[in-house]
Amino acid sequence: MVKSGSPCTGKIINRSLHIYTSMSLGERVQVLSDSAQFDLCDYSADPSQRNTAVPGIYYTSYRGCRVPLFKVLLTNRCCNDCRYCINSSCEMPVELSPEEIARVFLDYYERRYVDGLFLSSGVSHDPDETMERLIETLRILRLEGYGGYIHLKIIPGSSMDSIKRAMELASRVSINIETATPDGLDELSSTKDYGVDILRRMRWIHRLRKRHPELAPSGQSTQLMVGAVDETDEDIVKRVGWIHDRFSIKRVYFSGFQPMEGTPLESRDEADPMRVLRLYQADSLLSSYGFSPDELRFSGGYLDTDLDPKYAAAMDMDIFPVDLESAPYHEIIRVPGIGPKSARRIIEMRSRTRLTPERLRKMGVRMNRAEPFIYLDGFQSTLAEWGKDRRE
Ligand code: SF4
Repeated sequence: MVKSGSPCTGKIINRSLHIYTSMSLGERVQVLSDSAQFDLCDYSADPSQRNTAVPGIYYTSYRGCRVPLFKVLLTNRCCNDCRYCINSSCEMPVELSPEEIARVFLDYYERRYVDGLFLSSGVSHDPDETMERLIETLRILRLEGYGGYIHLKIIPGSSMDSIKRAMELASRVSINIETATPDGLDELSSTKDYGVDILRRMRWIHRLRKRHPELAPSGQSTQLMVGAVDETDEDIVKRVGWIHDRFSIKRVYFSGFQPMEGTPLESRDEADPMRVLRLYQADSLLSSYGFSPDELRFSGGYLDTDLDPKYAAAMDMDIFPVDLESAPYHEIIRVPGIGPKSARRIIEMRSRTRLTPERLRKMGVRMNRAEPFIYLDGFQSTLAEWGKDRRE
């Protein structure tokens, strides 16, 4: 974005206009929370997961609980030219001051409407100038005694100093990687440099957290857009594997492309939601199951939208059936229907007692999926009975 952190030059921003002052605070909160809806970090894409009665409240899930967050932009004024984004051609920019955001958030918080804040912004002039206003918002909240969750979007191209100060105040930070390849980002924006403005900043965040684990204690996440350019699932999964390895990313969010009227990409097709789901499943295999991208099955570069990627991968592996009484963890975890928790329980249980289909089921193994891939001495005919449901 704003390559190498320099001020935007593509548009002349008349900062004396202050169009926003003609709108009430409530109206501006409404506009800027609507503008924030396409950022997926920390909330479900399901529109029903939004509180329509109070502007800016979205729900996320945390450890099985539904958590309301106030999700808002500081401004929808942006000098970047992302071809999918309505803010890049915003004729009526709206802003909230750091004091206004803090006031609205604390009011929501005191009323118990929300449990946390998600704050992002368009880039009104210069990345660091925008970062300063984001940091100021967080500073006010912390000074007011708010000690809870804040997820802050780092502005691509911002300085290491501003990133570090933001991480001192935020619980989690993220920077949107947007595409799997530099060429993909070049297609979407002429103002963002993939290697410098995004990857270099992700690396800084990672290194700062390694040196100072107290900074942004909930870690770093990112968001990747699916279907805005012609990148394959294989491109995406390989990039996701790479950033997990390099930057210890806590979570990758996939945003299915949705064409917005009035943007250069308005006639491009919407991304298939099943494609997005399969990418989430593939990411989970990399981040929680220890798979490498090479183990997944791609056809012409794409995951099969009709098949769970773990099941598809298992059909190509020559390790099956695995003997659950003796197989190592990395083989057990590759069995469809067995997750990390049940794989650990299997290893723990087999050291003290015999495994049976009933015991496996009780520890959470989905027997109808696992049956063709496992061997359990003396129980093969029983396993086949468990698997019948899946095949019928
Ligand atoms: S940086 Fe790009 S995606 Fe973000 S608000 Fe500006 S134009 Fe939109």
